[in-house]
Amino acid sequence: MRPPVLDPLFAPVTAIPGIGPKLASSFDRLLGDGKRSARVLDALLHLPYAAVDRRRRAVLSESEPGVLTTFEVRVVSHRPAPPGRRGAPYRVLCEDETGDVTLVFFNGSRPRLESLLPVGEIRFVSGSIELFDGRRQIVHPDRVMDAEAFAKSPMVEPVYGRTEGLSRRMVHKAATGALARLPALEEWSDPALVARERWPRFGDALRVLHEPESPEAIGEDGPARTRLAYDELLASQTALLLVRRRMKRESGTPRIGDGRYRRAILSALPFTPTSAQDKAVQDIAADLARPERMLRLLQGDVGSGKTLVALLAMATVAEAGFQAALMAPTEILTRQHFERLEPWIRAAGLRAALLTGREKGAARRDVLEGLASGAIDIVIGTHALFQEDVAFARLGLAVIDEQHRFGVHQRLALSRKGEAVDVLVMTATPIPRTLVLTCFGDMDVSVLREKPAGRKPVDTRVLPLDRLEDVETAVGRAIESGRRVYWICPLVEESEELDVAAAEERYAALKARFGDAVALVHGKMKGRDKDEVMARFATGEVSVLVATTVVEVGVDVPEASVMVIEHAERFGLAQLHQLRGRVGRGAERSVCLLLYKPGSGEIARKRLETMRDTEDGFVIAEEDLRLRGEGDVLGTRQSGMPGFRLASPARQGELLAMARKDAELLLDRDPDLESPRGEAVRILLHLFERGDAVRLLRAG
Ligand code: ADP
Ligand code: MG
Repeated sequence: MRPPVLDPLFAPVTAIPGIGPKLASSFDRLLGDGKRSARVLDALLHLPYAAVDRRRRAVLSESEPGVLTTFEVRVVSHRPAPPGRRGAPYRVLCEDETGDVTLVFFNGSRPRLESLLPVGEIRFVSGSIELFDGRRQIVHPDRVMDAEAFAKSPMVEPVYGRTEGLSRRMVHKAATGALARLPALEEWSDPALVARERWPRFGDALRVLHEPESPEAIGEDGPARTRLAYDELLASQTALLLVRRRMKRESGTPRIGDGRYRRAILSALPFTPTSAQDKAVQDIAADLARPERMLRLLQGDVGSGKTLVALLAMATVAEAGFQAALMAPTEILTRQHFERLEPWIRAAGLRAALLTGREKGAARRDVLEGLASGAIDIVIGTHALFQEDVAFARLGLAVIDEQHRFGVHQRLALSRKGEAVDVLVMTATPIPRTLVLTCFGDMDVSVLREKPAGRKPVDTRVLPLDRLEDVETAVGRAIESGRRVYWICPLVEESEELDVAAAEERYAALKARFGDAVALVHGKMKGRDKDEVMARFATGEVSVLVATTVVEVGVDVPEASVMVIEHAERFGLAQLHQLRGRVGRGAERSVCLLLYKPGSGEIARKRLETMRDTEDGFVIAEEDLRLRGEGDVLGTRQSGMPGFRLASPARQGELLAMARKDAELLLDRDPDLESPRGEAVRILLHLFERGDAVRLLRAG
């Protein structure tokens, strides 16, 4: 189990002085994973993405847009949001001798802003200027201080990403509190490598980042961040190698189906599988029949029909007398899978069940009993599937949908719930072969490149945001002709509150125009409420669904044929591709409108052009890889690959290769991690939450 030396890091954040139960829930939202509370470790590894340098000063007329700068200004006037206009911002006008600037606050409270920025007073305001209609504005200034506070504040201050309503000072305080609890740890990396690269030690690297002496110290490719990325890559590569070596040692079980359930399902389907689907099912059946364990990746673009392949794989396993589990990353997706698949499963005479965090009490007990007795053949669920108390009579196959949302350890946790469980993972992210190997390990790969018959190409258009009025008019026409429209509002870097505020504002505007035809769904809504809104959209009761990116993964409403994406320049290519995949699934010809902010740069323009020019996910993935590292895509700043907190394997290929080689050498020499360095690497695995892999060691 986890070495006790790490206990201080795995304690809840409330173990840090100054963080009480009241703040804890904000920290849970910021740092928890939705299931468990935030821990000291999470605060430690929540790295700043930049640092404010208060030594950078300017007068307004000489400000450089987009660069965090501190201005000394006089407050001129307040313009609160007009009453009743939900979502409209609160504005404060300020000036210096050279010009003026408007400070913009969403959800700002009047008394708070009046005391923060009293009219006539001098304030030091840090933030980045944007030009809006040719006028300077700062949306949510990073800091507002009077002269006294400014004189006392540190000149270099780390800036953390989303803060979930916490002040930056609180987040920083958590980080430094976590640093204070960091135990002395032995070096786990090859000492020669550390010396050659002039990397700081693990703890020192964290100190450099949380308590920077200059903004450069935090740099993306600086030694501190690189060192930590390497540590994470080393942990992931070691864990993957351990899994692979273990799987090679352990024999599997041949599971040979006779085809009866598959035939029953196929005759219940309203369509015939594509030849790509047939081929994938055959490959899987052949893997299952072999005495080695299966570890296969099924790649296929959004809408290529992966779920049917999964169903037929599960049916094959059922024919052989085993149970199968399908795990999906979100509640919405899981329910959708269940609703789709259950009738077909029933038609084959098999029994299916649903298990998510929401099944409680007797319903949950029934499912658990059915799984333990073997009465349930196929279970479809969320993370809830690998909780301790879930036991299977004879689990033979674990299918994991949208693999990128789950880590290796979660995959392991599910596959440990049976003897030599075969594993099929599915992803809509077309991952280049080289990355498959390095990020997910040695897997066999099936690809669904061909789309089900009848799909029509999506007509994609790229428009500047000032054409919004035309777009709304077009949406009005779409509603009248009975079409269904997704309207995606963008992510805002600083906080989910702002995302939601932006979405609410758009929703209010569209509702004012189109009335009850419009509904809103966002990430902060309760699961049930989300499902309810999605269901109304699916049935057509609602024609326009305004959404933050919660609709991104897998949700299937074939009747939707218009996709509007606001501020498309803020999304990464993979994300845009996923979003566009929501339309073009039905009989109607679909349209995707990408609205961008003019002047958003070369890379953004290239990305949008790629979207306009192709719908081939693999082409888009390669282009994505090529354009990566430009840093301005939201969500790629900290980690390019889900499952990684700090490293970005797509961008840090060389570092990844180094880590892989290092892990191989280490395990060749010390396969059970028993040497002093091996012991240190065990600690590393636990630190990066790959401790499950440690259990695979003989001396586990
Ligand atoms: P994804 O690969 O994105 O998970 P799905 O499995 O959700 O795609 O399939 C998308 C839609 O296409 C579903 O409504 C599914 O029932 C349908 N579908 C799957 N295979 C075929 C096929 N061979 N012919 C027609 N429709 C299909
Ligand atoms: Mg899917």
